[in-house]
Amino acid sequence: MKTNLLDFDLDGLVAWCQAQGEKKFRAVQLFRWIHQKGVADFSAMTDLAQSMRQTLQAHAEIRALPVITRHDSTDGTIKWMFDVGQGNAIETVFIPETDRGTLCVSSQAGCAVGCPFCSTGAQGFSRNLTTAEILAQLWFAETTLRREFATQDRVISNVVMMGMGEPLQNYSALIPALKTMLDDHAYGMSRRRVTVSTSGVVPMIERLSQDCPVALAVSLHAPNDALRDRLVPLNLKYPLAELLQACRDYLAFAPRDFITFEYCMLDGVNDTDAHAMALVEWVRPARGEPLPCKFNLIPFNPFPASGLLRSPPERVKAFAAVLSGAGIVTTVRKTRGDDIAAACGQLAGDVQDRTDVAGRRAKTIQIHA
Ligand code: SF4
Repeated sequence: MKTNLLDFDLDGLVAWCQAQGEKKFRAVQLFRWIHQKGVADFSAMTDLAQSMRQTLQAHAEIRALPVITRHDSTDGTIKWMFDVGQGNAIETVFIPETDRGTLCVSSQAGCAVGCPFCSTGAQGFSRNLTTAEILAQLWFAETTLRREFATQDRVISNVVMMGMGEPLQNYSALIPALKTMLDDHAYGMSRRRVTVSTSGVVPMIERLSQDCPVALAVSLHAPNDALRDRLVPLNLKYPLAELLQACRDYLAFAPRDFITFEYCMLDGVNDTDAHAMALVEWVRPARGEPLPCKFNLIPFNPFPASGLLRSPPERVKAFAAVLSGAGIVTTVRKTRGDDIAAACGQLAGDVQDRTDVAGRRAKTIQIHA
């Protein structure tokens, strides 16, 4: 089988090229052709020596993911479903705004965390994506959109690792993908514009701060361990106090001077004023240092298996007012791509649930208990 060059960050590509007898600067040229120019045909890489192009033809390829479906929302959001083999499919979403274009990228086929308000979690878990499968989402979206918008300029300015999966549970594949997003010879994105969203894999938050510190978003969703254990089952392993300390520690290395907390608003579950006040106590303790943060309140997108409902708009407003009143910057996420099921928590490709996460989750999670 040919080597998929999307599997490498620049260091990896240099090592691969050197193993073929090529010099480092040739790897840099090749990296630029692939990621800056979006070229997959080696014969079009005109500044590479003929002999190198022949080696590439024989041993390598740029293997994109087959597209199963594409849906275009009336608000400009685009959702692709990609085939990743063996009955698994993942989803990727492009969200255009006036001042930026954001790509929401998946890191796993399914997710093992099993949050009961999330369509991905409801499907269970099949496997981690490879670096190539993570980068192929960006490579394909960028090259496709550039062609459709008839522009040479970059269309995707921001990446959020908020699609299917828990990115920090796929750490070894994630890091080369992040490095490629940031690399000036590839996508050249600012660290502030690449966000890893985690449900709280505490040891990996610390490793990320050392290996590739990018913007961090944490899926919080509850202000105490008893509720968070049920809403984000990973909390059983890494409880709130440990998670919030990891966030404090991360700030010393983060490209932004705050952590973003995501909070999905679930009617009657986590959306009372008392919940909001408990959150304030965590991040603005009466005694101790405040934790610089922003809250992003996410309207829940109901799906039948969840048995959960969206908080009414007036409740979300009142909840936001408690946080804002305590001096915490709080936004309510605009839902985008509702009409194509591309909004937050709605991504659900096709997952062969090899670990029966969905089955176990259905037996053990009772949110209203
Ligand atoms: S919310 Fe995130 S961590 Fe939880 S199940 Fe969904 S994808 Fe996994």
